[in-house]
Amino acid sequence: MSLTIMRRIKFCAGHRLFQHGGKCENFHGHNYIADFFVSSGNQDSVGRVLDFSDLKRLCKGWIDEHWDHSFLVYEQDENAIQALKQVKPCRLFLMPYNPTAENMARYLMEEVCPALLAHTGATTTRVRIWETDESFAEAAIDEDSRLAISNHDASEQLS
Ligand SMILES: [Zn+2]
Repeated sequence: MSLTIMRRIKFCAGHRLFQHGGKCENFHGHNYIADFFVSSGNQDSVGRVLDFSDLKRLCKGWIDEHWDHSFLVYEQDENAIQALKQVKPCRLFLMPYNPTAENMARYLMEEVCPALLAHTGATTTRVRIWETDESFAEAAIDEDSRLAISNHDASEQLS
């Protein structure tokens, strides 16, 4: 059996979707929510997967340092990079793929969380990125330890 805890981190960031062809190709921003789901088969002597305050410190620390009030840009989007480098101070975070909510969840899951949690004995099993109140994208490890990326629009279920 594994037990899971979740910590929510809120942040603001700008982005654009390279070669999107629609309005998301324009510079714009979101009030994002990142939900970090962390699991372990073991509990500590107190009965915890991980101390919530440690999980907050690790996840919020990384987000604050790298993504909060930054522009997330695809590393091949030379036009956006050139433009943003004109701005002083320039707070730019280059992504290896387009900065969609799906890819942001994937980046946290694959590139960030393994290192953040390396010393804790717990692992990140799911990361959700909420781009609006009504929609999120998710990267999750399935039973075969494969990464699955999906997106969900709550407004479709409500209307
Ligand atoms: Zn957007």
